[in-house]
Amino acid sequence: MDGARVVVTGGAGFLGSWLCERLLGDGAAVVCVDSLVTGARTNVAPLVDHPRFTFVAADVCEGVPVDGAVDRVFHLASVASPVHYLRLPLETLRSGSLGTTHALDLAERTGARFLLASTSEVYGDPLEHPQHESYWGNVNPIGPRSVYDEAKRFAEATTAAYRRSLGTDATIARIFNTYGPRMALADGRVVPAFVQQALAGEPLTVAGDGSQTRSLCWVADTVDGLVRLGESGFPGPVNIGGDAEVTVLELARTIIDLTGSSSTIEHVPLPQDDPRVRRPDLAEAEGLLGWRPRTPLREGLIRTIEWVAAQRRPEHLPA
Ligand code: NAD
Ligand code: UDP
Repeated sequence: MDGARVVVTGGAGFLGSWLCERLLGDGAAVVCVDSLVTGARTNVAPLVDHPRFTFVAADVCEGVPVDGAVDRVFHLASVASPVHYLRLPLETLRSGSLGTTHALDLAERTGARFLLASTSEVYGDPLEHPQHESYWGNVNPIGPRSVYDEAKRFAEATTAAYRRSLGTDATIARIFNTYGPRMALADGRVVPAFVQQALAGEPLTVAGDGSQTRSLCWVADTVDGLVRLGESGFPGPVNIGGDAEVTVLELARTIIDLTGSSSTIEHVPLPQDDPRVRRPDLAEAEGLLGWRPRTPLREGLIRTIEWVAAQRRPEHLPA
């Protein structure tokens, strides 16, 4: 990666900021393009003085305003959490469609390798378990989650078509639920929601009976998978995610245990089309990239809890 110039769209978000940091550490020059619609300048604040880091404020739906040579494009810009994509349905569809086309155009124009940050949501509420990349998915095309799922499916179709018709060196990562420091505390995703509730001694809001499962992956592990796929020549798609599947209720109990909280559990309505199960088949990631998630769930949760607790201390709270 030494000397490479890498564009990271969505680089001021949770995953993007970890990716920018990792790429700088690997010796790359990083151009972070972000509209800050859901990301935050604070996520990249420690990087802005780095001589190889540039921040460009732009909406990728309008274009990706980067001049000069580019070696890699990591396209992460997307509204990404249910709370936000239910609030911003049209923006979500546009970033998956127009935004992805513009990011692909940049890669095509510069001859860069392109990586699409796709999602396990392309599998929808899966009828196959675990999910292998060959599974086509079970998505409700007009349900509330469809703006995200179908935008990513369109983004995958566009990426595959650029590769087929124009020869763009493009690949697809299907990322499963990832957690860790710098997740937006207010975007409703399950780990930050439960950790904040546990630290505040409030009930943990478990959706439905909590028997639905997710397979969580520590952020640095996910980012390592993305970098490996970006550096490989594989077209993908490749699943990148955790292999320790837990029910949401087990996750809530683990977080109560790790925080030593006296919180109880409160069952709240299950959102429409909430996937029942989710676990990646990691044979491709392991075979092609030599990648496996390394960080045990409890270890990653402890680090995340420490980070959330630090954000709640008075010096981090708004005046
Ligand atoms: P995030 O919300 O923290 O980051 C997304 C970033 O993209 C934000 O900084 C946001 O401001 C930016 N963005 C959104 N629309 C934009 C636009 N039109 N122009 C420019 N910037 C824009 O979310 P995240 O969890 O870091 O997700 C990053 C990527 O990874 C997304 O593409 C998401 O779909 C994908 N992904 C994440 C997970 C996960 O568990 N975190 C799982 C699957 C896929
Ligand atoms: N969830 C929950 N309580 C919350 C937030 C989420 O029980 O306060 C559930 C949600 O219904 C889903 C799972 O946790 O079953 C993961 O939700 P998240 O929004 O983190 O990710 P996704 O649904 O996209 O997998």
